Amino acid sequence: MTIRLLDNHVVSQIAAGEVVERPASVVKELIENSIDANASYIHVSTRDAGKRLVRVSDNGDGISSEDVELAFVRHATSKITSLDDLQRLISLGFRGEALASIASVSRLTVTTRHIEEEIGTQLLIESSNILKKQSIGAPIGTIISIENLFFNTPARLKFLKTDPTEKRHITGVTLNYAMMYPHIRFVLEHDNREVFRSTGSGELGDVIIKALGLDQFKNMMEIDFQQGSVEVVGYTSTPELVRSDRSKIILFVNGRAIQDSNLAYAITQAYQGFLKDKQYPVSVISITLPPDWVDVNVHPTKAEVRFQDHNMVFNVIQRAVRETLLQSSGAQFSSLVTRKENDFSWNRSQANVRGLETDYEPRLLNDDDRASGVLRDTFSIPVGAGMPDKPRTLPVLRVVGQIGAVYIVAEGPAGMYLIDQNAAHLRINYEQLKEEFEQRGYLESYEIEPQTKDTSSKLIAFMEKHKPILEAHGYRIEPFGTSTYVLRGVPIILADRSIEDILQYLTTTLLAKLNISRQELSEVLLLTTATLASIKSGQVLNHQEMQSIVKQLERCPNPLTSPDERRVFLHMSGEQIAQEFKKS
Ligand code: ADP
Ligand code: MG
Repeated sequence: MTIRLLDNHVVSQIAAGEVVERPASVVKELIENSIDANASYIHVSTRDAGKRLVRVSDNGDGISSEDVELAFVRHATSKITSLDDLQRLISLGFRGEALASIASVSRLTVTTRHIEEEIGTQLLIESSNILKKQSIGAPIGTIISIENLFFNTPARLKFLKTDPTEKRHITGVTLNYAMMYPHIRFVLEHDNREVFRSTGSGELGDVIIKALGLDQFKNMMEIDFQQGSVEVVGYTSTPELVRSDRSKIILFVNGRAIQDSNLAYAITQAYQGFLKDKQYPVSVISITLPPDWVDVNVHPTKAEVRFQDHNMVFNVIQRAVRETLLQSSGAQFSSLVTRKENDFSWNRSQANVRGLETDYEPRLLNDDDRASGVLRDTFSIPVGAGMPDKPRTLPVLRVVGQIGAVYIVAEGPAGMYLIDQNAAHLRINYEQLKEEFEQRGYLESYEIEPQTKDTSSKLIAFMEKHKPILEAHGYRIEPFGTSTYVLRGVPIILADRSIEDILQYLTTTLLAKLNISRQELSEVLLLTTATLASIKSGQVLNHQEMQSIVKQLERCPNPLTSPDERRVFLHMSGEQIAQEFKKS
C-alpha cells in the first residue's frame, strides 16, 4: 500500500461532507452569504425538496467579475484576513469553505453583478470544474442555483430523508434567519409554491406572526432585557402555549442561529412553577454579547458556539425569561377583574398585534361549522402561508368542493360562488408574473436540456430581433439556422411543465403576433407564461389545492375576470337560491 496525496477534488468532496449535510445546509450557507452581502431581499426556492434545485437570489452587493472564481476556491473569503479578525467577527461567514464545498458536490450556476459594475457575470461549475464564464446582463446582487446536489456522491444522496423532512429542514432554516433579520424581506418557495414571506418591516413580531401564526403569537410575551454588555431580546410563550418538546425553542447568538441544549434548558427552567413536567415553551430568543466573549469557530457548520463564561450567559437568559414571565403574570393578575374575553392581556406588544389585525379576518364560527370541521380548515393553515401582504379584493371564501373537474364551489358571506379554476389560476399567475417583472425588471430563467423547434423564417427573424425581451421574460432562445430555434431556458414557473407543450404554444402564439411592439410583446409573453403555468380545466384538484387557489384569489387584483377576459366567478346569493327552491 503506497501513501498518496489525495487529489484536490477528492479533498473537496470529503470536506464538503462537513459543511453540506443536506439541502438545508446549502440554504443556510447561501442565506448567510446574502446577509453578509447586505441584502435586503432574499428569495429561496427549491424543487424536489432541494434535491433537484436550491436557488437563493439576493439584492446584495454582488461579487465583482474579477473575484467570482475566487469565491469558489477553498479558504477564499473576503471576510477575515487573520485569526485576530475572528475575535471581532461581525459577519456570518469566515471560513471561505461553503461555496467551494457546495460546488464540489453539485452543478452550480452563479449569476452576480457587483454594485459598482455595469454588467454581471455568470459562472457554471460542475464538480468543482468551471465549465463556463460569461458576461451577462443582471441586476445588482447574486443568484446562486445548485442543481442535482450530491449527484457525484451517491452515498450522501442515499442518506437524505424523505422530501417532506428535507423541506421541513429548509423551511426551519429560512424561518430562523427571517426571524433573526426582520428587516430583510424573505420569500420561500417549494416547487413554485410560496410557503413563507416576511415583510421586512424590521419587527420580529411581524415575522413570528408569519412563521407561527397569529394564534400562537397572541400567546407570546416580548422579552427586552439587558445586563451589563449582554442583551436578550425576543419573544417567549405564556404558560398557555406549550409544546411537548423543545423543538420550538429557537436561539440566536450574535445573529447566528445556534443549537445549545444547555441554554434551552435555562429557558425551560425559567418556567418553573408555570409549566408541568415535559412541557416546553415556544421561544424565539436572541442574545447579543461582545464578539470576543464567544467563539464561533468550533464547528464547521457554525451551529455550536462556545462562550467564555457559559454560566453567566445561562443566568442572564434565565433571568430575562423569568422576569418577563413574572411581570406579565402580575399584569394579568391585576387586570383580571376587567379582563374581557379575547383580550390579549398576556401580551406586552398589543399595539403590534392590533396593527396587524386588519389583515386578519377570522370569520365567526357557529356550532354547525364546528361540527362540519370548518374550524380545522380555517385555522390549520398558518396565517401568512400563501397570503402575501396585499389588500383583500374578495370576502373570505370557504371551499366546498369541485364540479366536473372544472369549477370550484365555494361559500362566502353572500351566498354560493362557482369559480372557473383555469380562469382563476390564470389571473393569479398573470398578476404574480407581472408584479415580479415590474419589480425586478426580469423573470428568472430555468435552464433546460436544450430543445430545437422548426418554424418559419419570419419567426426566427422576429426572435433574433427581440432576443433581449424574450430573455428578460425567462425564455432563452437561440436561432439555429434560418428556420429553427433552440430553447435553452424557460421562466422558472414553467420548470416542471412539458417542454414540448411550451415549444408548441410559444411558437403558435408568437406566429400570430409577428407585428407587435415591444410593449405588446412583453404583455403577450407574460400571458403566455401564465397560461402555460395554469391549472387546466379537467384537472382534478384536492381540497388543499383548491383552497390555495381561493386564498390567492382573495388578494388578487381584478379577481373577477381572467387576463384573457373570461369570467372567473358565478355568484348566487342566498336569496336567489331560496327563490329557486320556492318555484314549483
Ligand atoms: P465565507 O462566507 O466563509 O467567506 P463562502 O465560500 O461562503 O465563504 O463565500 C466565499 C466568498 O464569496 C465570500 O467571502 C464572499 O466574498 C463571496 N460571496 C459568496 N456569496 C455571496 C453573495 N451572495 N453576495 C456577495 N458575495 C458573495
Ligand atoms: Mg459563507
